[in-house]
Amino acid sequence: MQSVDHAPATPWSLDLVRALEWKRFQEVCAVVFEHAGYCVEIVGQGEDGGIDLILTIPGGPEGEGSRVAVRCSAQGQRVGVILARQLQEMRIAFGCSQAIFVTTAAFTGEAEKYGAENRDLLLLDGPRFLEGILGMPQATQRELLALATEGDYTTPSCPRCGVKMERRRDKLGVNAGSEYWACGNLESANCLRTFPITKADPLAVR
Ligand SMILES: [Zn+2]
Repeated sequence: MQSVDHAPATPWSLDLVRALEWKRFQEVCAVVFEHAGYCVEIVGQGEDGGIDLILTIPGGPEGEGSRVAVRCSAQGQRVGVILARQLQEMRIAFGCSQAIFVTTAAFTGEAEKYGAENRDLLLLDGPRFLEGILGMPQATQRELLALATEGDYTTPSCPRCGVKMERRRDKLGVNAGSEYWACGNLESANCLRTFPITKADPLAVR
């Protein structure tokens, strides 16, 4: 039997972390925290801009005070202090004792300073998140890699209904020629959500 120690390193990289669309990133985060020993509940989805995961320690102290509120962000831009403060407010509203902000990108200097001043808030940028994965056993890394890269993992899911979005191009008007994401949900005529393709979008810079 081959020893786990001799298995080749998994190709986890910062580029891969940054290529993950928001929903896949959220799913990967959930499993990472499970491996870190938490019970994970997915509470949010994309658009609400609030808390995405609630973590509890199995067999830990009862009550809301022992819970951890997690926000997962897979947007390309650096996360500023306003969003970090917002998470602190949500943490208090949800009765959680700790908050973790995970982003595939980075935090602004002001946000990092705010994080350093608030002991109940942990900021994990792309490199720190990757470091956490690379510190896990190879078998866990491979499991996470399979989850992260299954099927189409870069096209964003609709933040309203969760269905994969489609690239469209404006044909008319002042923005003619520019591309945007549109919800591909043909079942629901109510979901006509669109959002711009930003320069920071990993798909747009290829
Ligand atoms: Zn939709």
